[in-house]
Amino acid sequence: MILDMSAVPEPPPIPSFEEARHVVEDHAARLHPRGKELAELLESAGQVLAEPVLADRNFPPFPRAMRDGYAVQASDLTQLPATLEVMGEIKAGDPTAAPVLQPGQAVAIMTGAPAPPGADAVVMVEHTSFQGRRVQIMKGVAAGDNIVPAGAEAKRGDRLLSPGLRLDYAAIAVAASTGRRHLLVYRKPQIAILATGDEIVDLDVQPGASQIRNSNSYSLAAQVLAAGGDPLLLPIAPDEPSRLRELIADGLESDLLLLAGGVSMGKYDLVEQVLAEFQAQFFFTGTLIQPGRPVVFGKARLGQGGPEEDRYFFGLPGNPVSTMVTFELFARPLLEALAGMSPRKLVFLQARLKSEIQTRKGLKRFLPAVLSGEFERAEVELTRWQGSGDVASMAGANCYIVIPPDRERIADGEWVPVLMR
Ligand code: AMP
Ligand code: MG
Repeated sequence: MILDMSAVPEPPPIPSFEEARHVVEDHAARLHPRGKELAELLESAGQVLAEPVLADRNFPPFPRAMRDGYAVQASDLTQLPATLEVMGEIKAGDPTAAPVLQPGQAVAIMTGAPAPPGADAVVMVEHTSFQGRRVQIMKGVAAGDNIVPAGAEAKRGDRLLSPGLRLDYAAIAVAASTGRRHLLVYRKPQIAILATGDEIVDLDVQPGASQIRNSNSYSLAAQVLAAGGDPLLLPIAPDEPSRLRELIADGLESDLLLLAGGVSMGKYDLVEQVLAEFQAQFFFTGTLIQPGRPVVFGKARLGQGGPEEDRYFFGLPGNPVSTMVTFELFARPLLEALAGMSPRKLVFLQARLKSEIQTRKGLKRFLPAVLSGEFERAEVELTRWQGSGDVASMAGANCYIVIPPDRERIADGEWVPVLMR
């Protein structure tokens, strides 16, 4: 098979990590999600909200006691100890229509109960002593203490959750608080996954001496699921253009195509050449990172009979750790945008380096590492790995140490940026 090399566009200069990430973020910002569907409240956990959730009543709906104690008028407690007449007891769930509290009076009240009209504070039971129908109060309070006014957290009709939010447990609590059994969520985008390589065999095949089992399709599928997408695993593509072309055409039917392998400089790394036949535009064909330097990002068109719009693709390097890292750094923001999520910036945490790192300048490195320590003493150290093919040590890592391209030695005890996995 002879390939027309003139179809391959000149590669632009290799962008830095930050430049490449911004390219993806700019494209992601212009994407639209795939439509909406109704989900049961608990099914919606982890999905992306597609409608605003409004307060259906005031939050709290009544002035709520925050402590067990006595509802009082703060102005009765200027002289201490003060003795007040106890008019009764209000527990959580009692109707709000209690009699109006008069000066010199108190009402025993429980956490979560509606404060009676006329009361402007609650004295904690710890600062009181009850005798017969009277209570002695040893500690003063200011008006407003230990009562949350009605509507202080939100007013009826206020927007509590916005579309684009990935529903976590706090958001689920809000939806439950507003009585929602169902929520409108965005449909998950379908993400095609195409592993390439003549040496790659699938799990049900006994690998020959020089063959490697396909792990990339499965790690990528797991990453797609975790990011809120719906993975579609295509058959393994050989390093041969015609079958690769067919499978890329299949993959471009999905909302996003992830290819793994075949993007390096080797003679049989054909992915870019075959993609170029699909009117592909390449936004970058490498970035100054390690692992994952040859990562490719672009969009392509299926042509006749295929989807009208361009489809984005990533050509991820095939070394398993490179595949995982480049998915997280570049493919994930695009997938999240297709899933309807509001854009998020990549944020690194800081931890103290446990043992010195020596490396070379020029690339931003994302090295598999183990974060340990306890409480405020986070420590991090590199896993002992044999390079980007080492899935076993990657599985023992829980984060990446991020090393800027201008550093070649980082001493132990230094604070280093860490990307959580
Ligand atoms: P490539 O990016 O195609 O040059 O592949 C780089 C390395 O990753 C080679 O050692 C491949 O054997 C390995 N590799 C590629 N694809 C996979 C895969 N799907 N599963 C496991 N290893 C792979
Ligand atoms: Mg290969």
